Amino acid sequence: MGCAVLTVEMPKVNARCLLPQFRVSLLSFLFLFFVASLFGAVEKPFNFNETPGKLPKEVVPTEYAIRIVPNIDNFTFSGSETVKLNARSPVHQLLLNALELKIDRENELLTLTLPSELAVGDHTLALRFTGKINQQGQGLFYMRYQEQGGGARKIMLGTQFEATDARRFFPCWDEPAFRARFQLGVVVPENWLAVSNMPIESEKKIGGGKEVRFAPTPPMSSYLNVFVAGELDVIESRVGPTQIRVIATKGKAELGRYALEASAQILEYYNDYFGVPYPLSKLDQIAIPGGFGGAMENWGGITYYESTLLFDPKNSSGETKQNVYEVLAHEMAHMWFGDLVTMAWWDNLWLNEGFASWMGSKCTAHFNPQWEVWLARELPRDPTRRTGIAKEAAMEGDARSTTHPIQQPIATEAGANSAFDDITYKKGQSFLRMLESFLGEGVFRDGIRRYVVAHEYSNTTTADLWSALSEASKKPVGEIAAGWTEQSGFPVVKVKREPDDNVRLAQERFTVNFKNAPPLLWKIPLTYSVVDEAPATLLMAGKTAELDNIPADRALKLNVNGAGNYRVEYDAPSWNLLLDNLPKLSVEDRVNLLSDAWALVEAGRAPVSLYFGLVEKLPASTDLAERGQIIDVTDFINRLLIGSPQLEKFQRYARSLLRPTFETVGWEPKAGESPGAGSLRASLISTLGDFNESEVIAGCRERYEKYVTYPASLAPDLRVAVLEVVGRYADEKTWNKLHELGVKTTSIEEKQNYYNALTKAIDPKLIKKTLPIALTDELPTSRAVFLVARVARDSAHPEIAWEFAEANMKALLAKTDAAGMNRYAPGLFTFFSDESRVVELKTYAKRNLPAASAPEVAKAVDEIEFRAEFRKRLASQLNIWMDGKNVANAR
Ligand SMILES: [Zn+2]
Repeated sequence: MGCAVLTVEMPKVNARCLLPQFRVSLLSFLFLFFVASLFGAVEKPFNFNETPGKLPKEVVPTEYAIRIVPNIDNFTFSGSETVKLNARSPVHQLLLNALELKIDRENELLTLTLPSELAVGDHTLALRFTGKINQQGQGLFYMRYQEQGGGARKIMLGTQFEATDARRFFPCWDEPAFRARFQLGVVVPENWLAVSNMPIESEKKIGGGKEVRFAPTPPMSSYLNVFVAGELDVIESRVGPTQIRVIATKGKAELGRYALEASAQILEYYNDYFGVPYPLSKLDQIAIPGGFGGAMENWGGITYYESTLLFDPKNSSGETKQNVYEVLAHEMAHMWFGDLVTMAWWDNLWLNEGFASWMGSKCTAHFNPQWEVWLARELPRDPTRRTGIAKEAAMEGDARSTTHPIQQPIATEAGANSAFDDITYKKGQSFLRMLESFLGEGVFRDGIRRYVVAHEYSNTTTADLWSALSEASKKPVGEIAAGWTEQSGFPVVKVKREPDDNVRLAQERFTVNFKNAPPLLWKIPLTYSVVDEAPATLLMAGKTAELDNIPADRALKLNVNGAGNYRVEYDAPSWNLLLDNLPKLSVEDRVNLLSDAWALVEAGRAPVSLYFGLVEKLPASTDLAERGQIIDVTDFINRLLIGSPQLEKFQRYARSLLRPTFETVGWEPKAGESPGAGSLRASLISTLGDFNESEVIAGCRERYEKYVTYPASLAPDLRVAVLEVVGRYADEKTWNKLHELGVKTTSIEEKQNYYNALTKAIDPKLIKKTLPIALTDELPTSRAVFLVARVARDSAHPEIAWEFAEANMKALLAKTDAAGMNRYAPGLFTFFSDESRVVELKTYAKRNLPAASAPEVAKAVDEIEFRAEFRKRLASQLNIWMDGKNVANAR
């Protein structure tokens, strides 16, 4: 917010204009001390007075009435608000949050010093302010987009407040424990639709547009407010008393039909699961063409990046459809976990995100078993992340020295933003899945119902969840959970066959590239089965345990269906028995063996022959998850070996592994094929293309030529893969054509496909044409900055991507949202496997990056070191393995 005009009106105070005064206080120091001492002890249930934060708890806002008048011409807005306050003890000052006001920026605090003491009781505060409409998805922001049909350039507005950006929109007590009712009023052009958390209460014409006033919200946290406005279309339906709408830019709402139907299905499921029906009268699913890449669970008005909500049955891929469902199910779970019941402070963010991730997957799997949700690979939405199953992605990071516990102290606003990571989302999710399978589905749901009823319209800590689950299960859930949420890392369970049909188990910490890791112990909810027999469970509380009566000649599989968040390392006799019984194992168990074997290779606990030996013993299959795991690993090795003399030989070997599956699935969809076949076909084409398979490259070129003239000739599932392979081996003429097609289309999904193809080019000349697009308006802001990361990952030229980014960092960061700021530059380094880049990154960080990015820098340094070491080790082990296979003669 710019130059501030502040008017403060108080009962018992002469109403007059007060200037904000700055207070650099001991608050933040005391706060750090408090958090440190809190984490030394067992966490306590929610207590407002003891909740961390910077704002004093003596004064509590209860109701806000806010009026905002945007000025689109110069990207500013003016606003006013009245806030009803309750003073719980007498105070001389009010402390609240505001950002981009002329105040102490470090603390983002606004201090109003009062002329006389404010007595205990109710008061009203009135403020006027002006603010900024941003380009990036932070606070109030604008989006430029091409309208469906004519392609006219349009502009619209949206907001993004989590974690700490509501304070950019209006001064407020911007910490999650300060729940209040918010009533928003806005002035917008007459032909615009304005949307917020609640339905419109009144609307009237005024000079320069119309004034829209929304109904007040129930008591909620400030970060859950939302405001979106523009030339929008709506489709709607109803579930019981709840109106459901899908809202998109003009001409696109009908593409929300699938989301609308899915929303109704999901809402009914959650109304039952949580035992408390959805509490608001409407639920809007809003597609916005920019701002950020994901979705945001604003209560009653969820915002989605357009291609995560809209689905075009004629042109969208099966993966897009699945992604739409999963994101809907995740965000809608937040309407209860996050919105109705909110974590007290950002140190418990996992309560929101781990839970919504688990619940969303559970609901998606319930209605769509064909998608193999728990095994499904994620779309690489954020190209700086490796693909893989969610659980694997979390374990990958959690094995490193740079990991952190699920529950971690959060001291600053920047810290709150970087808490949105794989540990919070995915380790949280996989821990809850393990706990549910240990306690039983019904018992677990009963505990969740108790929790929601006990804490609705309030805040909680993790301790509150454990006590509800303990009551329901009569088990000490808090004790089991502590090792998983309060300490970092996870265990590997070693299996050793002993005489007399005994199996000895021992646990130790599992690490990758982490020497001298502190040893830790876990209470492991183990599951195991002797092949062909029913699974059993065991709570492994100590360092070792025994399983009796396991016949020495029977295969034993631990971690049934891979539902547990731990690795298993088998001794040779146990491993060989498993290899002999692979056809009898479930797909889930085989995928789990593949994942564990590969992790053991990464950790240096086994040679690469363990992994490829398993791959070669697998029965022929076209299961997406199983083949997908092999595709991910070979793809990772292929990238790691760029520039290495082993690369060509490895590509030959990898082709020989993948070709038989491709020959079975073929180029064209077949009647009655499995639901994952389309995605598997696409994955194989794209990967074999990367591995330089000439027949696949030629096949892609041929199909691309036809597609350009007759788009319907190419199945939507194959478009991404075909375009990427064509882009990879493009000449300048092809590059220009792909670019032209990308500029022209008004579908964000299709646009993304063309631009992704441009990032794949091998020819450095073409990459240098692709990168500057990130600085233009051609792509929505968040996607534009990803373009550079995609080049770093996909082009084989991370050095060209980094050179470009370094030279244009300021312009790129101006397009990045709050969560991306700390990780953008370090993220680009994670594609290097040359140790000299470690020094370069450290030097760059010291000169250019804020202190808050230190954890991201450390992660990138760790990744470069790991890759450099692994590359050497892998190259020599692969040589031995491939020589034994006579790969030189393979096609
Ligand atoms: Zn979420």
